[in-house]
Amino acid sequence: PAGEPSAPDDVLARREAVLAEVQEHYYSVPPQIERGWREYLVGVDGRVYLDMVNNVASVGHAHPRVVEAAYRQLRLVNTNSRFNYRAIADYAERIAATLPDELDTVFFVNSGSEAADLAIRLAMATTGRTDMVAMREAYHGWTFASDAVSTSVADNPSALSTRPEWVHTVAAANSYRGELRGADASGYGPQAVQLIDELAAAGTPPAGIICETYFGNAGGVALPDGYLSQVYEAIRRHGGIAIADEVQVGFGRLGEWFWGFQQQGVVPDVVAVAKSIGAGQPIGAVITRREIADRYRTQGYFFSSTGGSPVSAVIGMAVLDVIRDEGLQENARVVGAHLKNRLEALGREHDIVGTVHGSGLYLGLEFVRDRETLEPATEETAAICDRLLELGVIMQPTGDHQNVLKIKPPLCITRESVDYFADQLSRVLVTGW
Ligand code: PMP
Repeated sequence: PAGEPSAPDDVLARREAVLAEVQEHYYSVPPQIERGWREYLVGVDGRVYLDMVNNVASVGHAHPRVVEAAYRQLRLVNTNSRFNYRAIADYAERIAATLPDELDTVFFVNSGSEAADLAIRLAMATTGRTDMVAMREAYHGWTFASDAVSTSVADNPSALSTRPEWVHTVAAANSYRGELRGADASGYGPQAVQLIDELAAAGTPPAGIICETYFGNAGGVALPDGYLSQVYEAIRRHGGIAIADEVQVGFGRLGEWFWGFQQQGVVPDVVAVAKSIGAGQPIGAVITRREIADRYRTQGYFFSSTGGSPVSAVIGMAVLDVIRDEGLQENARVVGAHLKNRLEALGREHDIVGTVHGSGLYLGLEFVRDRETLEPATEETAAICDRLLELGVIMQPTGDHQNVLKIKPPLCITRESVDYFADQLSRVLVTGW
């Protein structure tokens, strides 16, 4: 009857009836979530789950400072970015201040897809070219240009064969299970440089390259040492633009580094960010050098109604304040290192654990059936995730083989909570799934 709360499965059935099928949900029978707090989610039945996958809720669910900033600003004014209000200038300065000095000019959008799309269009506008280089097994978004450079077969099985002609891909620089493994992984850089040189020699030098600076989509795999410096150097030698997709790995999550590109010792020309910077509010940003931003004019028009709106800007600043005041990058470093140790210890006891990737609170635990052949343990990974849900832990697979646990909890997660996760995972690995 009207006015009565619906049963959890009603919501799921109604969701499936009214939303496009492609808009998937986690789990075949997901809990219906009603509220969140720090690294926890609470179902309508009152059950508490430890949220180990939510890099969007970067500073923790329902953070009071984020809530207060949004509430206060919503009561004052929220409007499009053409109006003259203080928060957009303050926030743009704050974002630019987290980056190297030359990256001084900010565009505000509303998502990672938009940020990647805009970054690609900036590269095309700056160079007057249309060819782009992208890394395979990557995801950059669903919009026309960001989808074009996304080749993860987990999301789209025909991804590689359906790329437009202007997209040229380089090998996924994964030193664990890619084409070049272990010490051979140093060959990925020269291989990518060769493709860039060949494109230039053929009279189609690329407008730029887009890739994650730390391979988030593969489960938090560090790129080989020197990879980005070799590739960025080649792109720039031919007049192209180096784009860093920091949507997943940037903003303190790696612990040791605020930005993924710092791990590689490079500075990109264009940085795309989203997700964590808004802690759930749709905020995306592209930060670049003034002369690159100015070239956008050749592409025509840029206006994002809600990109950098007063509410988005104050939320973005609250997120930066919380990261600073609560020492969340340091928490990612310390708690993440502890968790990585615990996961590596599990790896010494269970053959199914192939390796543990990652840094800080971006970790990937890769399951294999055989440590020599690296046959991916895809079905096992799905079953382990389902079993973890029963034990109160939200966890999902990632990667082209869906055999890597993507471990990227809110940055405020405590040592006790990561111990709970490691204990439950141990229980599943010992008792079966
Ligand atoms: N880039 C990367 C690396 C991502 O992981 C994602 C989202 N998974 C995006 C871009 C797109 O972001 P959004 O979903 O906010 O459009």
